[in-house]
Amino acid sequence: MGLIDDIQKLSLYTAYNTNVDAITFLKGEIVQGLIDEFGADAVRKRIEDYPREINEPLDFVARLVHALKTGKPMAVPLVNEELHEWFDSHFRYDVERMGGQAGIIANLLANLNLNRVVVYTPHLAKKQAEMFVDRPNLLYPVVEDGRLAFKHPRRAYREGDPVKVNRIFEFRAGTTFRLGNERIEVPFSGRFIVSSRFESIRIYTDPELKPFLPEIGLQVDGAILSGYQGIKLRYSDGKDANHYLREAKRDILLLKREKDVKVHLEFASIQNRELRKKVIYNLFPLVDSVGMDEAEIAHVLNALGYSKLADRIFTYNHIQDTILGGKILVDEMNLEVLQIHTIYYIAYITHSDNPLSEAELRSSLELATTLAASRASLGEINSPEDIKAGMKVPYNEHGEFVKLRFEEAKRKLRTREYKVVIIPTRLVKNPVSTVGLGDTISAGAFTSYLAMLRKKNAL
Ligand code: AMP
Repeated sequence: MGLIDDIQKLSLYTAYNTNVDAITFLKGEIVQGLIDEFGADAVRKRIEDYPREINEPLDFVARLVHALKTGKPMAVPLVNEELHEWFDSHFRYDVERMGGQAGIIANLLANLNLNRVVVYTPHLAKKQAEMFVDRPNLLYPVVEDGRLAFKHPRRAYREGDPVKVNRIFEFRAGTTFRLGNERIEVPFSGRFIVSSRFESIRIYTDPELKPFLPEIGLQVDGAILSGYQGIKLRYSDGKDANHYLREAKRDILLLKREKDVKVHLEFASIQNRELRKKVIYNLFPLVDSVGMDEAEIAHVLNALGYSKLADRIFTYNHIQDTILGGKILVDEMNLEVLQIHTIYYIAYITHSDNPLSEAELRSSLELATTLAASRASLGEINSPEDIKAGMKVPYNEHGEFVKLRFEEAKRKLRTREYKVVIIPTRLVKNPVSTVGLGDTISAGAFTSYLAMLRKKNAL
């Protein structure tokens, strides 16, 4: 694949979030056991309450059952540290691996043989550091004798740093269980993430490293930033989300100071509306590119005040509404490019003066879905060769319908001031794992976008 050769010439920076994913493959009996433990009525009632955070076990069971019923991937923060014992007594972990968008993307890009991947994460305990792949092109920035230096993350860990463990429950389409007299069959394979949100884990650049961000910016062709969903509104030491977002803004401006390095922000679900709004308003205007999934675009539109359109996307999931929402976002935040991935299609929306042609944008999305299909088939991408696995995966069976609906949407919406391209996804029937597929799509899309810009001398 020619595009991969071009991607390999790039150097990328990625920050901030890494964690250890403790993965459990859920069986129907386990879910049934949980429902029986708490009683179907109590679970049903708590689903109606729809807790936004996990404070006690029933919050978890309710949100899990809800996710299983809809088959939609979801992440809910765990705020009560004491629940770890409850989880440990109820679940066995089948696998532990690299989690967090920055960690997943760093390993992926290093394995694809990019020239250089610089990864920064504020907490790097030994256990976390060991989750990074052992590749010479993967580097962690450190300050030594007042100068910027790079080390492999496995050699840069700090004793005593906290480790963030996220619990991931992978579910399979077709799994069945009963909620009282209701029989539930899981419609899609996916994952439910219980993400730890504790005081000790923060999203920031160490003050010692911060002055070197312009130098890092000079050395890379692009940056992928993520993890803002991990910011808490308030901390016990008096710091708050405003503080961390102000610093996050400074980081982006510093990266861009010496060279206008392209920055992609990977947006993940933020349950708290206030924080979601702050992330959007503070950061979107500073970045060039944003990636998100369909649930997130609805949340974002809601935060921007387009609640009717957001509700329509939530309820009907029509391509036309998603594209309309995307146009609004590209315009209001003046993004260079917006990438939306859904289960059946991936789309780019840009202004019409984007240097890439629609065909080029399409080939970037092709690479993205092929990478995701490779990861879904193999569980991991260990080398550029692994992309072949994704090429064997056919486009999903709704592909033709997607194209038709898209053509229809284009006729109905004014799209002349934009470039809108869409492709159906290559969908793996029985994925080994669904964790990190969205991140894989976004990393594949953004790097191939950069690679093509570079070829046109537009980078
Ligand atoms: P996210 O919700 O951000 O993790 O993104 C998940 C994305 O991964 C979806 O939007 C799909 O495009 C893709 N995806 C999900 N399941 C599969 C699968 N079984 N095979 C290939 N791609 C998938």
